[in-house]
Amino acid sequence: MTAPSPHPNSGSPRRCPAVVVGAGPAGLTVGNILRAAGVDCLVLETETRAFIERRPRAGVIEEWAVRGLERRGLARTLLERAQTHTECEFRFAGERYRFGYTELTGRHHFVYPQQFLVTDLVREYADVRGGEIRFGVRDVRLHEPESDRPSVSYLDPGSGERRVVEADFVAGCDGARGVTRAALVPERSRLARHDYGVGWLALLAEAPPSSDCVVFGMHPRGFAGHMPRSPDVTRYYLQCPPGDDPENWPHERVWTELRERLGAAGAPPLKEGRLIERRVLDMHSYVVEPMARGRLFLAGDAAHLTAPIAAKGLNLALHDAFLLGDGLVASLTKGDGSGLSGYSATCLARVWDYQEFSQWLGEMYHGTASGDPYRAGAALARLRRLSDSPVAAAEFAERYLGARTTG
Ligand code: FAD
Repeated sequence: MTAPSPHPNSGSPRRCPAVVVGAGPAGLTVGNILRAAGVDCLVLETETRAFIERRPRAGVIEEWAVRGLERRGLARTLLERAQTHTECEFRFAGERYRFGYTELTGRHHFVYPQQFLVTDLVREYADVRGGEIRFGVRDVRLHEPESDRPSVSYLDPGSGERRVVEADFVAGCDGARGVTRAALVPERSRLARHDYGVGWLALLAEAPPSSDCVVFGMHPRGFAGHMPRSPDVTRYYLQCPPGDDPENWPHERVWTELRERLGAAGAPPLKEGRLIERRVLDMHSYVVEPMARGRLFLAGDAAHLTAPIAAKGLNLALHDAFLLGDGLVASLTKGDGSGLSGYSATCLARVWDYQEFSQWLGEMYHGTASGDPYRAGAALARLRRLSDSPVAAAEFAERYLGARTTG
């Protein structure tokens, strides 16, 4: 939320070159880049450190993003522990179609649970690079983001007092439910939104993967997905009505439905296990354009949400963070504002590319169960083209890997 001026009882504000709101992958990457250049910054996070280090979400990271982390000294543990994936599998009408994308591109995916990446980034930022971070803050507010002296205030979790920090720049990295986006829309930026009209039941099972790769099942009962996360944990998705109650999906129903929708000739049986996460995502996406106002720059889900259809959100958050971190360092240490002035347009080119791919893929996943024979026929044609046309296959591989442009 944007407030006109700091709270009257706030005491004297302190100064910090950069305040980063949110300690997700975007905010922590920006903070690490700033600290590596010797720039002081303060990260504000509403949750506790233990909570963010355990919050499971993404797992599939594109190769260019890992190389970007590596160049900034942030991928050592990831490179030791992540799995690499070179293929995915489509299942349709009881058939299996294996798609080897590395064979076509020479690139691969890394699979590394997001909470492990967040743990690595917090450790590096706070414990190694000496970055300042406040956990458990409440009621974060932005003040005068368009002025030369924007500030951020928050309620200190210990004392309950409002603290004010004046900054040269504010990075809004507080995700889809944060407060910084409100400083841009509706007056300053446009919010473009797309609803897919379906829900996905997002599941984490305490069970080893049932295949060595990601599996996409297109079925008249709805889409189903299988995504290995670690040797002991597997993510599954089941298409469901938007707004469905996870309580409608007890253990037996989930596994029966997964077996049905992912079933195919010669497919190994699913390895079942206890469900440790069950929540319904209403599949939608949005993009805020432009992603900056004055000295406030949004990054990651704060600026754009990509429904997890093509596993792109974390990758986009990292892409923004690399550009924003480098742009802030150039501006604060060399007075070079060119990176920041081109920031929004450069980010948005990749954002829209990924949005369009997710929409294309979403239609292939959901068309079969739409109840509309026209959409079902078109979805099948999309799928067939991947196996019949080397050109279509190469294009899909490039887009699935985000390999067209480099980070
Ligand atoms: P977040 O990770 O949301 O971090 C924002 C941080 O800000 C949080 O720690 C939050 O607690 C904090 N915060 C919120 N409000 C405030 C406030 N007012 N003040 C201070 N702090 C605040 N993406 C992929 O690329 N690959 C995948 O395989 C993939 N799978 C996914 C599966 C699921 C089930 C989901 C839900 C998402 C998936 N994503 C995937 C998307 C990915 O998780 C997100 O895009 C990613 O977390 C975005 O990072 P971020 O740093 O922008 O935001």
